[in-house]
Amino acid sequence: MSILPEAERPNPYSAYGAHGSVLVLNSGSSSLKYQLVNPVGGEAIAAGTIERIGESGGSSGGIVSHTFAGNRTRRELEVPDHGEALRIALGMFDEIGPRLADAGIYAVGHRVVHGGAEFSGPVVVDDGVVDRIEALVPLAPLHNPANVQGIRVARELLADVPHVAVFDTAFFQQLPAAAYTYAIDREVAAAHDVRRYGFHGTSHQYVAGKVARVLGRRVQDLHTIVLHLGNGASASAVRGGVPVDTSMGLTPLEGLVMGTRSGDVDPAVVFHLARNAGMSIDELDTLLNKRSGMLGLSGVNDFRELRQLIDAGDDGAALAFDVYVHRLKKYVGAYAALLGRVDVVAFTAGVGENDPAVRAAVCEGLEGFGIAVDADRNAARGGERIISPDWTSTLVMVVPTQEELAIARQCVEAVDGRRPAAAVTAG
Ligand code: ADP
Repeated sequence: MSILPEAERPNPYSAYGAHGSVLVLNSGSSSLKYQLVNPVGGEAIAAGTIERIGESGGSSGGIVSHTFAGNRTRRELEVPDHGEALRIALGMFDEIGPRLADAGIYAVGHRVVHGGAEFSGPVVVDDGVVDRIEALVPLAPLHNPANVQGIRVARELLADVPHVAVFDTAFFQQLPAAAYTYAIDREVAAAHDVRRYGFHGTSHQYVAGKVARVLGRRVQDLHTIVLHLGNGASASAVRGGVPVDTSMGLTPLEGLVMGTRSGDVDPAVVFHLARNAGMSIDELDTLLNKRSGMLGLSGVNDFRELRQLIDAGDDGAALAFDVYVHRLKKYVGAYAALLGRVDVVAFTAGVGENDPAVRAAVCEGLEGFGIAVDADRNAARGGERIISPDWTSTLVMVVPTQEELAIARQCVEAVDGRRPAAAVTAG
């Protein structure tokens, strides 16, 4: 099977005509990332990040970076809060470009981490929606507060355009009950909303759809395993465009080994450390979310640095790589069993798109499942591509994720009040 040339792929969004641009905002606890996206053509018109929000004092203050027309502008400024961060971002558009008035903003899209069981798709934001997102803070104390703050400030500063919330959890609201139910006392679970929600949903949905589009197949006909391997990492099994399982759970801590997160551990590790190491809940939260994963095992969480350590003969780094790959292989095998048949394994995000060694190691020894990687194809660079040899029954692919574009397109759909069926296969 081959990849269709760009010109032959259907683009359902060309039917929308001119929609101007969408400003996509991603508010983290100490950062604001933004991108001005053309939802039809798909290109990022301008993008920026503001980091170290709330950290004061000269050179250790906020770091602002804005890229437009191939030029990156970098500044160090005091950024006391998200309101100031957005004001600075809007100022960068005015000063460096493009002027937002000329860009014709159609909507502002907000990436929201946790939509609980309430939100199964993008919603146009009103006061009630903000309150409902805030009510979900107990489920996502590390993420939703910044999202709420970002939405509030943006609605004040950009009052004339619709704002849309796009949830990381939304795609996985379609999971079957057998996949999202944890086997704990059902009354306790129900009283506290304890279940699997799944995250990175925008990326998993986009990549599963993109796979179909570049192959010229219907998403309804494909069984796909998506491996989103960034700093955070998650896997999903998608049958016919609908997720049947995903590795992240109540929070983005469960599942794969990640940059700084442990992924799966025996829950009793928490009791053991609380009882015997005297660690508090907050200390355990920090341990598993920020001091574990590749960082905890090797001292680094960036795979480029990990490779240097491995090449220099560092045993801890080599073990970390093996643990990472072992976990991934287990999920690929588990998801192959759930799907019954795997048409495509798709690697995406920072590690998945850029680290051939991870891709080769994950697929090594899986020939019996019809999964293998061709060394030359795996080493080549480029956009979406097939890296398996011609003889396999499963295609292994690299498919760059475009979360901002996917968010921008969901914004257009939410504002227009329609979600074309073809959106699932949008590219
Ligand atoms: P997130 O969105 O979760 O912050 P990304 O998807 O941007 O993460 O992935 C970031 C990670 O990708 C880095 O921490 C690094 O481990 C990995 N990465 C980026 N570029 C490369 C590369 N050229 N080779 C190997 N790994 C890379």
